[in-house]
Amino acid sequence: MTYIPLIMTNQRNSQLSKFYKRTIDERREAISHWVGSDVDVNALLAQNLTSLQADSMVENVIGTYALPMGIATNFQINGRDYLIPMVVEEPSVIAAASNAAKMFRAGGGFHTSSDEPVMIGQIQVLDVENPTQAAQNILDAKSKLLAKADEVGGSILKRGGGARDIEVRVFESTEVGAMVVVHLLMDTRDAMGANAINTAVEHIAPDIAQLTGGRTHLRILSNLTDHRKAKAWGIVPASELSKDGGNGHDVVKAIVEASVFAEVDPYRATTHNKGVMNGIDAVVIATGNDWRAVEAGAHAFAARRGSYTSLSRFRANDSGDLVAEIEMPLAVGTVGGATRVHPLAQLSLKILGVTSARELAEVILSVGLAQNFAAVKALAGEGIQRGHMRLHAKQLALAAGASVEMVPSIVETLIRENMIRLERAQALVKQLKGEG
Ligand code: NDP
Repeated sequence: MTYIPLIMTNQRNSQLSKFYKRTIDERREAISHWVGSDVDVNALLAQNLTSLQADSMVENVIGTYALPMGIATNFQINGRDYLIPMVVEEPSVIAAASNAAKMFRAGGGFHTSSDEPVMIGQIQVLDVENPTQAAQNILDAKSKLLAKADEVGGSILKRGGGARDIEVRVFESTEVGAMVVVHLLMDTRDAMGANAINTAVEHIAPDIAQLTGGRTHLRILSNLTDHRKAKAWGIVPASELSKDGGNGHDVVKAIVEASVFAEVDPYRATTHNKGVMNGIDAVVIATGNDWRAVEAGAHAFAARRGSYTSLSRFRANDSGDLVAEIEMPLAVGTVGGATRVHPLAQLSLKILGVTSARELAEVILSVGLAQNFAAVKALAGEGIQRGHMRLHAKQLALAAGASVEMVPSIVETLIRENMIRLERAQALVKQLKGEG
């Protein structure tokens, strides 16, 4: 059969009909069309990360560890179509994101905004005799300190970034006495910016010691990047939620009820936010960004009012449609770290076609919202297990040693018998191999 390209490069439509039914080679070909001829998708996927490259990234390397990489379809964000590369080991995530994106698309797609990419660098100052005076001295010297920080700003400065502000906070502790904490705020442009901000706080630390008469101790960025937040929102029409035969307004109501549960109860909020991070982490990893940093910032932000709550919210609008919104800190880069070393991170950025770190953060957050919506909708409707069952059965069949050809019949049997267990899958594999 001759392959008919799913995508023409001049026609950026992320609705790839029946993408999941295509072979891996066909999907790769579609992605090649999407990214254009200057990127050799097959070569990058074949090369992946070599041991030699891995050895230059971390210590004591013995090899690399592969995870599945897939593409979520249907995303439309601020009127533009995106295909989303996702790296994740959990079944259902990519399918659920694609399906959710289709429903948001029917309501006009996702809309986003974000702060300037401003990072916080912290300097801890101890042994300060008069913390109030010390804080004042620092604030009085703000412009000198900002200029000093910019001395080590490097190319970030030329790109329009650089030091933006100084904040001072004072803590009292029985163990160490008064503690002055200085925040340097710095726009790190398209970098996540850990190295730039760490360099800058180290550079101004001697001045801080002099201004406070104290001793500077830790000098390091904060992962609670709450000056670098992104927002995403979108509408799922109630009509989209009635496609399974039910009443869409009932589904909207059920989702709102589930949202309120997560807003008030930290036990539920944790799982609700895990659903958000299913989407976020998968793209953060695909693009070579630091997912521990993003996770730490997300959860600290969720607890910012003293009690852990949900990162997103779902409500009905006047027309009875579902309005979904999310806000959180998201410090990711399109340059630096593993983004420039890992060939598949480079490929992921090409597939996304983003031109700035802010755009990347906004896209990632939209994926988080889509993922979250999909999970809440499933929970508020039929429950999560039914949707998961088929993919779980497939994973069990493979874990039981089934060949690719054996998988479909084993999956069918496991589901029919309502016995989604490894032992049963192993018995079926034995039977099919003629050993049972
Ligand atoms: P890099 O230092 O690798 O890259 C950022 C640098 O790239 C900039 O400082 C700048 O350097 C250069 N650059 C080139 N083009 C641009 C552009 N358009 N915008 C901005 N900078 C540009 O990475 P990061 O500083 O972003 O650090 C990310 C890494 O730090 C991640 O791997 C993370 O895991 C790690 N890390 C994280 C920590 C944490 O989260 N707590 C702590 C420490 C490290 P130049 O001025 O020289 O051109």
